[in-house]
Amino acid sequence: MTNPPFPTLSQQNRDLLVEALLQWSLGNGLTMYPPGYESLHVVANAPVTLFPTPIPKSAFNAAIAVQQPFNQVYANVVSKKQWLVDVIKVLGAHDPEFTGRLFETYQKSLVDGKPVQRVSLGLFRSDYMVDTETNSIKQIEFNTVSVSFGGLSTKVGQLHNYLNSQGFYDDNYSYEYYNKDVIPVSPSTVELARGLAKANEKYGELTKPDNETVVLFVVQPNERNCFDQRHVEYALLNEFGVKSVRVTFNELATKTSVREDRLYVKSTMDQVSVVYYRSGYGPEEYGSEIEWEGRLKAEKTLAIKCPSILTQLSGAKKVQQELTNPEILAKFIEDSEAIEKVQSTFVNIYPMDDSEAGLKAREWAQDSQQCLKFVLKPQREGGGNNVYKEDIPKFLEKLPKEEWEAYILMELINPQQHPNSVIRNSEVFSETILSELGIFGTVLFNEEDGDIYHNEGAGFLLRSKFSSSNEGGVAAGFGCVDTVCLTE
Ligand code: ADP
Ligand code: MG
Repeated sequence: MTNPPFPTLSQQNRDLLVEALLQWSLGNGLTMYPPGYESLHVVANAPVTLFPTPIPKSAFNAAIAVQQPFNQVYANVVSKKQWLVDVIKVLGAHDPEFTGRLFETYQKSLVDGKPVQRVSLGLFRSDYMVDTETNSIKQIEFNTVSVSFGGLSTKVGQLHNYLNSQGFYDDNYSYEYYNKDVIPVSPSTVELARGLAKANEKYGELTKPDNETVVLFVVQPNERNCFDQRHVEYALLNEFGVKSVRVTFNELATKTSVREDRLYVKSTMDQVSVVYYRSGYGPEEYGSEIEWEGRLKAEKTLAIKCPSILTQLSGAKKVQQELTNPEILAKFIEDSEAIEKVQSTFVNIYPMDDSEAGLKAREWAQDSQQCLKFVLKPQREGGGNNVYKEDIPKFLEKLPKEEWEAYILMELINPQQHPNSVIRNSEVFSETILSELGIFGTVLFNEEDGDIYHNEGAGFLLRSKFSSSNEGGVAAGFGCVDTVCLTE
């Protein structure tokens, strides 16, 4: 007999569960720095759910199975280049300060029309919701830069497994409430580290450094989610013997030096094999010329970038919209089975330009009834930028018509809702939640000739948020990390 997806606990048992959860989290690094933190040795529990959340097994397996095809599509979008460059030029014209400037930096970095290092690493994450009607996965977005929560995802899976094994989910005895098989632990910490290690190894083959090399983690100053990154660093050293060095995005320019196209950490003269960005995806991070200088400097070296500027730009929401067109998708992937898998995850996404589809979308977006089916997205990452449903017409009214084509109009996905509880700042909130399943992938490829050296899935992430909030950013304060409970 299988238990219902959520246990019912007496108040006393629930209190015990909460205490065990909070202490396991602190004991095992399922943590974040609190907002506005000043002390480096005071941490807080990362927001998590009390229980795992049901996800149909078939949907979960489908999401895992489509990751390699998606990695391949995006690697090909980058290496086939011209199509992407044309899309980015249009976006850049609307957003000269950021998308335009990134593209310009890419162009400046080329030597005789080619990047200095042709090999590029993608640590990607494809995000989905499970559509209530069909129980199938539908893609929210494909992330190509600074994907987060690979580290904490492993931890939250271990947490829920600990609580289950210790019997905290059983109200009467201390039995396991869930069968272990249905609450898998995401291998993302080690798998993301493996991707970085593969790139480090490739760098060694290509450039024959005479000393050991390091991976440079380029992070945001005062990063609250730093333990998520640290777990990947620890795995990189423990599992693969590769050291890492952390610098802020601002320090990328000042704390490194370049000799014969190689990038070094100034203080130690460690040679950098991989520049791994956990920053640099939003315009507010480029507060001065120094950040642009750092980005260009790294781009012009033999260090493998994760991601290169072009790979970062391939994650544009406009690219995602274009790929829903079968003719365009066919440029980047040939295998018909893979095409089918990829396409089965798409909902309708429309341009907002003056093409036939765009004109139709403009009409819907301005209509007080039709707009309720959509979310309007600009070319930005990191949460908090989208415009939902009834807010769309008002928003467009204020936006000059020339700017509209920089946006895409996407059908809203309607995911299942569940009565779970969320622990945030040690306080328990019991509310309906909805969840977003992210699948990590790593791909090491050649941006010039399109060779793919390594293409693997790299674990998963479940993020949940209260149904009452439109957005789901964990660090931004809307959501939390969760574990899947696989259901038939
Ligand atoms: P960002 O780059 O800011 O992360 P996303 O495209 O991931 O942008 O959107 C942010 C959040 O908005 C998602 O995590 C999800 O909660 C919600 N969202 C985005 N697109 C949809 C959609 N088509 N249907 C339902 N919710 C969506
Ligand atoms: Mg997102």
